[in-house]
Amino acid sequence: MSDKPINKSRRDAVKTVLGGLAAVPVMNLVATAAAYAQDVPAVDPATDPTAQALKYHPDATTADRAGAARPGLPPDEQFCHNCNFSQPYAEEGYESCTLFPGKKVASNGWCTSWTMRAG
Ligand code: SF4
Repeated sequence: MSDKPINKSRRDAVKTVLGGLAAVPVMNLVATAAAYAQDVPAVDPATDPTAQALKYHPDATTADRAGAARPGLPPDEQFCHNCNFSQPYAEEGYESCTLFPGKKVASNGWCTSWTMRAG
């Protein structure tokens, strides 16, 4: 391949176009993730049967954490944000929970399945 200036310029142009094309799917993923985070409903203990069965409260301070006697941490330190079933969520104040697929739970929530996060 020749190193003439015109070829270098063409190479730079191709690199710029390919770099721009590669960025488009990444930007779409970020935008989709943000939109998805806002579309996922929060678990509502007034209507969700699983939440009722597990005595989920979006505000752990109103739950009977001491009565459930979950091992690992003192009851007043047990929250969804330090539960083994939760994952950090894209929206501030919420977690995803494997027990509530397709929904989000409050970071400061709690339920009777609370389990100390491993590690
Ligand atoms: S299992 Fe853990 S993260 Fe899920 S609702 Fe219960 S306490 Fe929160």
